[in-house]
Amino acid sequence: MAEEQLLPLFEDQCLPFQIEGQDIKGRVVRLGRSVNEILSKHNYPEDVSKLMGETLAFTALIGTLMKYNGILTTQMKGDGPFRVLVSDFHKAEDSAIGNIRGYAAFEDGIDANDPMEELFGQSGYLAITIDQGKFMERYQGIVKLEGDSINDAAEEYFRSSEQLPTKVMLACEKDTQGNWHAAAIMIQHYARPARDEFERNDMETKDHWNTASILLGSLKPSELLDKNLSLQDLLIRLYHESGVRIFPPTEVAAGCRCSEEKIRAALASLDLQELKDVADDGTITVTCDFCTKDHKFELSKLMH
Ligand SMILES: [Zn+2]
Repeated sequence: MAEEQLLPLFEDQCLPFQIEGQDIKGRVVRLGRSVNEILSKHNYPEDVSKLMGETLAFTALIGTLMKYNGILTTQMKGDGPFRVLVSDFHKAEDSAIGNIRGYAAFEDGIDANDPMEELFGQSGYLAITIDQGKFMERYQGIVKLEGDSINDAAEEYFRSSEQLPTKVMLACEKDTQGNWHAAAIMIQHYARPARDEFERNDMETKDHWNTASILLGSLKPSELLDKNLSLQDLLIRLYHESGVRIFPPTEVAAGCRCSEEKIRAALASLDLQELKDVADDGTITVTCDFCTKDHKFELSKLMH
């Protein structure tokens, strides 16, 4: 457990917040060890890792919004040279920690800094799927991938799916020691319930939103990623004038759900010749796209 105590204090957690006295809520997430574990294993080119780190931070940010335990998946896909970028957030019923994982498939030589339409093509889309098991119906929202970055797609997703004005900021960076860090912050303007006794005039509400948006826009990626600055202090620094209410955090860690049992069942559905074709020296190796783990099966034990 000694290693646990060396963990940076201000990473791998998501913090919900609300600006005092205003119709604005938000959340902020910062990933350290979790995102570094995922990106180091995949070892993609740096620009792809950066895009993936930002996506993982976004997935953790909205994954922790789920009311019940479940799985939230973000998938970016299309007909461009960037084939697919998938990440998911999973919180099990018996766990206080949310697990993230992800993978990407792309053509050699792409520049992941290119605009979204160039990377994912004209048919590029961002799909967000929320599966909360028996508690709620499966939900999927889809937006076209446009604009310069996933920030734009993320904001468009909230505008179209929830009709809520939303500001999102994502960041990912490799530090001088070669470790990856990623972070995300969002604010949303939500309608005050009609039963509320305080009727606010429109101008004031608009003012609040504009001010909160401008303050968020003033945040530098380096501040958002600064692991020596607690998320609480970051929020206070941003919204000290109006005050900010901070709610309990959710911890985030890297974790995969691949299982030998599931892969064995999938292999059992193939016919013998197919199994023989992929076997090497009597062994079939299935590599998990997400965590890169090799699952090995003896052909003789699969055939019965
Ligand atoms: Zn896996």
